[in-house]
Amino acid sequence: MSEKYDLIIIGGGPGGLAAAELTAAKKKRVLIIEKDGWGGTCTHRGCIPTKALLSCSKHYADLKKLKRMGINIAEASIDFPAIKKHQQQIVKVSALGAQKILTDAGVETKQGTGEIISSSKVRFADSSGKSEILSAQNIMIAWGSVPQMLPGINLSDRVSTSDGILNLNLLPSSIIIVGGSVIGVEFATFFAELGAKVTIVEILDRIIPLEDQECADLLRQELIRMGVAIHTSTKLESLKDTGSSVVMSAQKDGKQLELSADYALLCTGRKPLLNTDELDKLGIEYTKAGIKIDSKMMTNVAGIYAVGDVTGGIMLAHRATQQAKVAAGFICQTNDFIYDENFIPSVVYSHPQIARVGYTQKRAEAEGLSIEVVKSNYSANIIARAELLGQGFVKAIFHQDRLIGATIVGDDAAELIAPLALAVSNELTRKQLSNWVLPHPTLSEIFASLFNG
Ligand SMILES: Cc1cc2nc3c(=O)[nH]c(=O)nc-3n(C[C@H](O)[C@H](O)[C@H](O)COP(=O)(O)OP(=O)(O)OC[C@H]3O[C@@H](n4cnc5c(N)ncnc54)[C@H](O)[C@@H]3O)c2cc1C
Repeated sequence: MSEKYDLIIIGGGPGGLAAAELTAAKKKRVLIIEKDGWGGTCTHRGCIPTKALLSCSKHYADLKKLKRMGINIAEASIDFPAIKKHQQQIVKVSALGAQKILTDAGVETKQGTGEIISSSKVRFADSSGKSEILSAQNIMIAWGSVPQMLPGINLSDRVSTSDGILNLNLLPSSIIIVGGSVIGVEFATFFAELGAKVTIVEILDRIIPLEDQECADLLRQELIRMGVAIHTSTKLESLKDTGSSVVMSAQKDGKQLELSADYALLCTGRKPLLNTDELDKLGIEYTKAGIKIDSKMMTNVAGIYAVGDVTGGIMLAHRATQQAKVAAGFICQTNDFIYDENFIPSVVYSHPQIARVGYTQKRAEAEGLSIEVVKSNYSANIIARAELLGQGFVKAIFHQDRLIGATIVGDDAAELIAPLALAVSNELTRKQLSNWVLPHPTLSEIFASLFNG
């Protein structure tokens, strides 16, 4: 039977979920189709399992601080199956939370595959192959992304992407991580904190290439202190699973680098999931970077929207959510939301974390902006001292006395960036920020000296 929806969304990740919830709240009839797990990559293979794991390794690493605080504990040890159970439990809670949001909002759901066959029709097929054609006023593509593979490198039991490594049920004694960007350093932090011998191999001359150099340098120093070996300017040539180990060959400074380890993890980026046959048939424009959209998140085909990783750019869950809010506002004719890539904060959940919003110093300088850079160190903050948080700093970038960007490296950077994201997105001036009263004593007081000058 043909049914008419106001909106059919394909993909139940952060983008699809946000669009479904908001449009249903405006009394639209909404259907969301998901072929795998509710919550998408974020819940099942991304943000949530990795952060559950990183919280375990951080607690374990932080035990070393306790002795300095006068607390002696009996010998600590790792129960890896229990760590995995924690990961699975948190993923389950997140997936159930996603489902509850849909139910509470009155969104109709279907578990299976959605295929767009025209600007107003979607073919839905369940796992048994049973299919039906559904009609909608609007359609949204929220298919997400997949790991980017390297030519000539094959996945196996011992060579995996982030998807595969999250299913590993034993702690490797050694691991080679190919790629020193966000996902690579997060896994490096996790495995190194639990005692594995970690080697990062990165083709560029630095890790975390998109973030502030000085912050990345501090992180590099901390990773090395954890025992991570970092080979930058190193080009992977081959990676072979011998059955009992992996053997890697790479070029570094014109010399051959040979390494072996228990496992290898490819963290060489992600690419949008482009079902090109489907897009071509519909005449939807895309490049290999993603589906092209306008400021309303609409594709070149009227009534078909695309949000999240499938549109390329910085692949982050909250970016997908914001894009979905903008599209939902347009579909419901409320136009409540705005999307500005510059206001999307990004976080590297390594230890220490790196968090940024808006401009880095390098980007501002490249654009020829006259800027003032102000820095404040964790070492000058009494809570950072009391809690033995170690090194860290905030760097704020002002242009014409307005805060246009900030980067934080250090403990709790992910939480600290949130108020600065609000400040940057509202283009607050230094004078306005100087009246921001910060509770004492808190880590947030590191902001005080940035804005008082
Ligand atoms: C290891 C890792 C760690 C990450 N950590 C973070 C983090 O800390 N913070 C952050 O912001 N981002 C993080 N990300 C990125 C984040 O997960 C993505 O940016 C986010 O999930 C994108 O949301 P989305 O809605 O665009 O797509 P997705 O979350 O990928 O969801 C797309 C969904 O569409 C479904 N689908 C695809 N095709 C069809 C079809 N034809 N029919 C039905 N369903 C379909 C898929 O099954 C999937 O569930 C991480 C990613 C990875 C891999």
